[in-house]
Amino acid sequence: MKIVVLKFGGTSVGTIDKIKNVANIISNYLKKKYKVIVVSSAMSGVTNELINKSKKISESFSDAEYDVLVSSGEQVACSLIAGRLIHKGYKSRSWMSWQVPIITKGPHKNSRIDLINKSKMLKYLKDGGTPIITGFQGISDENRVTTIGRGGSDASAIIIAKFFKAQRCVIYTDVEGVFTTDPNKLNKAKKIKVISYEEMLEMASLGAKVMQPVSIQDARLNRIDIEVKSSFNKKPGTLITKRSNIINNKIVTGISSTHNDSKVTLIGVRDKPGVAASIFKPLSKNSINVDMVVQNISANGKETDLTFTIKTEDLNKTKKIIESNRSIKFRKLILKKNVSKISVIGVGMITTPGVTFRMFQTLANKKINIQVISTSEIKISVLIDKRDTKKALIALHKEFKLDNKK
Ligand code: ADP
Ligand code: ASP
Ligand code: MG
Repeated sequence: MKIVVLKFGGTSVGTIDKIKNVANIISNYLKKKYKVIVVSSAMSGVTNELINKSKKISESFSDAEYDVLVSSGEQVACSLIAGRLIHKGYKSRSWMSWQVPIITKGPHKNSRIDLINKSKMLKYLKDGGTPIITGFQGISDENRVTTIGRGGSDASAIIIAKFFKAQRCVIYTDVEGVFTTDPNKLNKAKKIKVISYEEMLEMASLGAKVMQPVSIQDARLNRIDIEVKSSFNKKPGTLITKRSNIINNKIVTGISSTHNDSKVTLIGVRDKPGVAASIFKPLSKNSINVDMVVQNISANGKETDLTFTIKTEDLNKTKKIIESNRSIKFRKLILKKNVSKISVIGVGMITTPGVTFRMFQTLANKKINIQVISTSEIKISVLIDKRDTKKALIALHKEFKLDNKK
């Protein structure tokens, strides 16, 4: 069977007209004799609305009920797509994840797809049906509805493509592909024709919302090529594939930025073995994700300063946890909202010296102060004042020759 998996994101199914358009895209594949498995997200805005409702019910809304609630948006979108295909004369039906079933492991709100039972779906495909499957959700061993993290429909599509050995996995979205930086933030952003899993993973983890990071990790591990393209026009999109398929002469492939980070600094922390662990253990227990970390070398051998970044929504919780942590001693706690992490990413950096210097010099020329630095083989991230984000983005995009000349 020539199977193709098509995933539609929230903006692609955001209105009735858009859903009709999605049905047309699907029927074009059916006309080419593909067996099509569709994965859909909720109509745009719906998941956020549902989350807001849960917060109004309780600040500590049950995780299991959160999954039941927020996964409901996908059900609506899937039935509307299937309904439109039936209207057009095709055999189609919606499938909730528990009906497939798509079995997940791990905690509520953040499960991972473990297994897909293919038999019912394969029979349906052979009989000429087009299944429309809810992305983002699954079912646990305990028969409870689960979800797999925000933006999770991307991962649903990729894992479905893996289990059904699909020839293609196409992610339809509201932009024409993966760009050198968010095209909605910088109009000089250029579409990338082909990008490696590794670079895409870094870009996604560092703020490029276009693909969910977990989904790229799944694609990389299973060697699944992904096409990202627009559901609004027919222009070619971006191919995400393995590095050996790519001939690249670029040093930097893309630039990502984050916008809701905060910086936490502990001044005068007693410098002794295990102190960092004592600070971070309770944070991790409370599911607070600590990102960039720097510890200054202690001048007097007794005290040190420690800085790290977190998401701003975790700031109050972090403050409480640190202030009530009896196993650490420090002189002062400084919290700073409105910082932003800007990262340049590219496998070309491995073989090209001087990228760090060029990045720092470019920011210095624009009088942008760097607060924290972190690097890996294929990325350099700096923490800057949020107000400087756009300025930094424009300057770095130009410096690394990513600007679209048109
Ligand atoms: P969907 O609803 O289709 O899942 P998302 O909103 O999750 O779509 O992702 C698409 C958005 O990602 C775009 O509208 C764009 O603003 C944003 N984005 C951020 N970085 C990039 C990038 N480097 N390339 C393309 N889009 C990006
Ligand atoms: N609807 C879910 C969300 O908004 C899943 C997705 O969009 O992929 O996070
Ligand atoms: Mg998305």
